[in-house]
Order: sequence, then C-alpha cells, then structure tokens
Amino acid sequence: MALLHLKAITKEYQLGKTTVRALRGLDLAIDAGEIVAIMGPSGSGKSTLMHILGALDVPTDGLALIDGQDLQALKERKLVALRGRRIGFVFQTFNLIQTLSAQRNVELPMVFQGVSKRERARRARDLLARVGLSERVHHKPSELSGGERQRVAVARALANEPEIILADEPTGNLDTESGQSILELLRDLSVEDGKTVILVTHDPEAADIANRVIRLRDGVVASKARHIGEASQTASPDGVESDSGASASGQGGDADA
Ligand code: ADP
Ligand code: MG
Repeated sequence: MALLHLKAITKEYQLGKTTVRALRGLDLAIDAGEIVAIMGPSGSGKSTLMHILGALDVPTDGLALIDGQDLQALKERKLVALRGRRIGFVFQTFNLIQTLSAQRNVELPMVFQGVSKRERARRARDLLARVGLSERVHHKPSELSGGERQRVAVARALANEPEIILADEPTGNLDTESGQSILELLRDLSVEDGKTVILVTHDPEAADIANRVIRLRDGVVASKARHIGEASQTASPDGVESDSGASASGQGGDADA
C-alpha cells in the first residue's frame, strides 16, 4: 500500500466570482522511503499539492489517503495529531520565530506534543547537531545565515520524528552552495533514516538526489520519471517517462526560477 495516495484530486479556490482550479484530477501514489522531487512552472499547483499531502488543506473533490486512511474522514483533533507527529514541513521562507534561539525553535513542535522540558532540550540539541549546527544552538535566526536558518527549519521539521518530510522550495531563498547542502541533508534523511521526502524545487540538481521526479502542469501530473535503477521503458498510461527523458527536460524551460 502506498504511504500517500491521492486519487482524482481537484482543488478549487473561489476568488470573488472566479473559480481558480489549482488541481484538476490529480493522481499520485508515494511509497514509504521515497524521495520525490515535484517540479513545474509557477502556478502549476505544487504548493496546493503539498498542502493536501500534508493535510494542511482539504481537496474540493477526490480522495487523499495516508496508509489507506481517508484524511477527510478524520476528525479535526486526529488530523492535527497526525500532522504534528507524522509530518514535518520545511518552507522556502524558513518560518522560524525570530525572537527564539535555534534550540527553542526546534523545541516548539515538541511543546505541542507534550514532550518534557528536559527531553525537548536534549532532542533539539541532538537534531541541531545532526544538521551541523552544534555551535549555533543559542543563535537567533537573525544571527544565522540563510543556509543555517534552513538547517534549523529542517531540525524543527524532525522534532517529533515524523516519517514524512514535505519541503516546498526549501532552496528557493538560498545561494547555490547552501541550497545544495540542504538537498544533501534531505537526501540523507531519506537514505539513512528511511524518511519519505517530498520536495518542491526548481533546481535541476534536485533531480539527481530524488528517486522520482514528478512534473506538474496546470494542476495535473504531466510526467513522472521512473524509480531510478529500474530498466528503461516507454511511456505507460500514467505518463511514466524514462530517467534520461526526465532529467533532460529538467534542464529545459520548464522551471520558472
Ligand atoms: P505553485 O506552487 O506551483 O506555484 P500554487 O499551488 O501555489 O502553485 O497555485 C496554483 C494555482 O492556484 C495558482 O493559479 C494560484 O494563483 C492559485 N491559488 C493558490 N492558492 C490560492 C488561494 N489561497 N486562493 C486563490 N487562489 C489560489
Ligand atoms: Mg508554490
């Protein structure tokens, strides 16, 4: 069974009299332990897709399943608990609390899960060490570089030991080098820790760390690269394409970065 399964997902936003159709019957299945890169032009529905995958938003139509469980059937309290424990989010703009130190930022999600003060501090320091910031635990976001801030955000995403990491353009505000190290960090979380990592990016390099690239166009999956390592095959009904084809188009005019 897929860990995350979206079936015929439609998402519409109402803006006055206009209906914006952000997702238009999107199908997607993601297995545990995968690292998936989601690419596509601005406005193609990438963030909307991430919000639905992360149970931050509900689809207008269609089915969103986690371990076969229909997210929309869950009561709000259960949904909040699921989000808090099973999913970690990383955003383009870091979304750290400016008045709190790196350590306190990482501790925050644990407060909501009722983790003791001592345990929070211990885990936060471990996580900051994991992302290479042992020397920065008492620094506030304004005292950190962009790359370091995003590392704090990754550590925070890991606070409650989620199995799923959702990162929406995590390298969008970073220089190439810091961006690359964040991508490597995300890859390690998948390869070494077995986390399922879903990453929205315009960075063609991301295709190298992902075992699958999913391209969105106008709210549907335009194409999916196969799992890396599988034998080459021509397109199948769900638009599967070869790795070479996917990485070649990854260099193309598809991204708007
Ligand atoms: P992407 O992340 O690929 O740039 P989004 O998922 O943010 O795309 O947006 C997809 C479409 O939905 C766009 O046309 C966008 O303008 C629209 N959209 C996104 N969020 C909202 C919202 N809260 N209200 C109205 N329209 C929205
Ligand atoms: Mg977006």
